[in-house]
Amino acid sequence: MNQFEPYLPILEEALQKLDSWRVSYGKDTGSISDAQFEQIQKIADRLTVRLEGNYPFHHPGYAGQMLKPPHPVAWLSYALAMTINPNNHALDGGPPTSEMEKEVIQKMAAMIGYDSNSLGHLTSGGTIANLEALFIAREIHPKKAVAASANAHYTHQRMCHVLNCEFIKIPADHFGIPDIDFIKNNADQIGTIVVTLGTTGLGIVEPLQEILKVAKNNHIRVHADAAYGGFFKLISDELPSRRHWDYLSECDSIVIDPHKHGLQPYGCGSVLYKDAAVGKYFKHDSPYTYFTSDDLHLGEISLECSRAGASAAAFWSTLEFLPLTKSGLGSILASTINAANKFASRIKEESKWQLYRNPDLDIVAYFKEPNEKSILRLNQISHEIFDRGMNLGTSGYHLSLFKVPADEFLENFPDYQPNAEHAVILRSVFMKEEHEDFVDELVQRLTS
Ligand SMILES: *Cc1c(COP(=O)(O)O)cnc(C)c1O
Repeated sequence: MNQFEPYLPILEEALQKLDSWRVSYGKDTGSISDAQFEQIQKIADRLTVRLEGNYPFHHPGYAGQMLKPPHPVAWLSYALAMTINPNNHALDGGPPTSEMEKEVIQKMAAMIGYDSNSLGHLTSGGTIANLEALFIAREIHPKKAVAASANAHYTHQRMCHVLNCEFIKIPADHFGIPDIDFIKNNADQIGTIVVTLGTTGLGIVEPLQEILKVAKNNHIRVHADAAYGGFFKLISDELPSRRHWDYLSECDSIVIDPHKHGLQPYGCGSVLYKDAAVGKYFKHDSPYTYFTSDDLHLGEISLECSRAGASAAAFWSTLEFLPLTKSGLGSILASTINAANKFASRIKEESKWQLYRNPDLDIVAYFKEPNEKSILRLNQISHEIFDRGMNLGTSGYHLSLFKVPADEFLENFPDYQPNAEHAVILRSVFMKEEHEDFVDELVQRLTS
C-alpha cells in the first residue's frame, strides 16, 4: 500500500464535512462532467509519468540531499485546508489558520526555551526567515557587519549583499569549527554573529556556548541558523553537542525550518525573536514603542505578504499527532541520529573506507581510499561511486558529493598528494526514520 493511501478515507470524510460547511452557504460546486473527468484523468496519468522522473526521496536507499516526503498527516491537512486556501498574511485572510500559526510558534518558542515575551511567525522557507533576522540585525547595528563562519549557508553572504550590509567570513578549522580568536580580534566591527546549529554541508553544530560568551562581552547580537538542525533540540541531551543546545534560548533570533526536519511539505520555515520589541522595525509609522506578541498581526511582523494558511494547518496537525517532545517528533530525530552513527561505525569497519569526521547530527561524510593516495584519484573514485549508485536503478543508492578545500582535507589526511584544489568526498543525509533499519543493506550496496 502506498504511504499515503491508508489516510485517504480520513481525507475523504474530512472533505465531505468541510463541503457541508461550504454548501451551507448555498452553493454546490462539486460536480464535473464525464468528459472533464476523463480529460483530467489523462492529465493526471501524464503527470504521474513525469513525476516518476524523480529520485526515490521516500526510500532509505536515497541518502543524498535533505529531501523526504512530508508526514501523511501534514499532507492530509494541507490538502484539506488548501481547498479553502486561507492566506496567513493577515488575520482576516484566515482567522483559524492564523490562530494555528500562533499556537505552533508558541510551541516552537517553548521548545527553544524562549519566554512569553518572544515573537515569531512562519515563513515560506529558511531563506526568507534568515533574511528577516538579518534585516533586524542590520536595523539594530546599522554600521556594523554580520559575521558567519565559512561553513554557514551561502544565503547569509548573499542576503548581506541584498541588505547592503558588510559581511565578514569567520575562518573555520579543519574540523569545521569557527575561529573564536578571529571573532575576538574583529569584535569591534561585528554587529551580529550567525551561528549555525547543523551546517547544511556536514551537519556541524557550531560552538554556541563559546560564541555567546564572546558576543556578550562585546555587545554582539547572536542569530542561530538552525534551519536544518533546530528540532534536534528535542533530543539534545543525547547529542555530543548537548552543551551548545542548552544555550539556544540565549540567542537573539533563531530560524528553524519545519520543511526540513519538521515533516512538512516545502513552504514552511520559521523565525523567532527572543525580544518582541524587534517588532517595531517592521512598522516605522507604528504608534507602539513596545510590543508583546499579542499586539501584532502576523502580517505586521513579516517581510512576506501572502503565505499559505494551509502550511500552518499542516504543521499544527502534525504537532497534534507528533508533539514537540522527546517521544513525539523527537523519536523520529533519534532514529536519524542512530542511523547516522550506525552507518559511520559500519564505514569504519570496511577496509579502504574512511570516515571523514564523526557526525554531530544525521549527516555523514566519508570516502573510499584510492590505492594511490592522491586527491585527484580520490575525487575520481568519489565520482565513480556516486554515479554507480544511480546507475544501479532500484537496487542502487543515492549519495551526494561534498567538496572540501584541499588544505583542510590535508590537515586531516596529510599523506595525500595535494594535486587538486578540492577534495571531493561522499556525503549522506540520514533524515528518514526508515534509514535506521536500512544501514546494513546500504553499506552492502555501497561496498559490493
Ligand atoms: C536549508 C538551509 C537554509 C535555507 O533554507 P530554505 O528553507 O532552503 O530556504 C539556510 N540555512 C541552513 C543551515 C539550511 O540548512
